[in-house]
Amino acid sequence: MSSTGNGYPETVLELRVSGVRCRGPKPPGPEGGAAPGHAAQTSIAAGGGGMLRCAACSAAITRTDARTEIGGAHEHAFMNPAGIAFRIGCFSVAPGCVGVGEEETYWSWFPGHAWRVAACRACRAHLGWSFRSAGASFHGLILDRLVSDARPG
Ligand SMILES: [Zn+2]
Repeated sequence: MSSTGNGYPETVLELRVSGVRCRGPKPPGPEGGAAPGHAAQTSIAAGGGGMLRCAACSAAITRTDARTEIGGAHEHAFMNPAGIAFRIGCFSVAPGCVGVGEEETYWSWFPGHAWRVAACRACRAHLGWSFRSAGASFHGLILDRLVSDARPG
């Protein structure tokens, strides 16, 4: 008849533990998935992608595996107010670029994104633009001003 008082506190403990797990930081999951091992021989490609360099000074700008799709496409063609057509590719990161000038929100090729001129960090050649919206950012780089460096060594 008389139940031990141990059962009730245990239930409370479980609730508190589950609450802590929900609010805690993300678990240290080692699931990087970057090392496929021997399953396929796709790891032969050194670096996982070719380097893309500034056409003017050959500085490393970004890599082909940083390509991303915005609005369902990697490449976009735009025309600026002066009637000059640009063919740009979208990249998630471009470590070789540096932002120039103020961030602008008018006349954005990608609605809802603020943009900023992106120039080569080494020679300051205009390579494209960086675009940023709430919680996301990418670079739109002029493909004609990049040269691929896919050759090993
Ligand atoms: Zn450059």
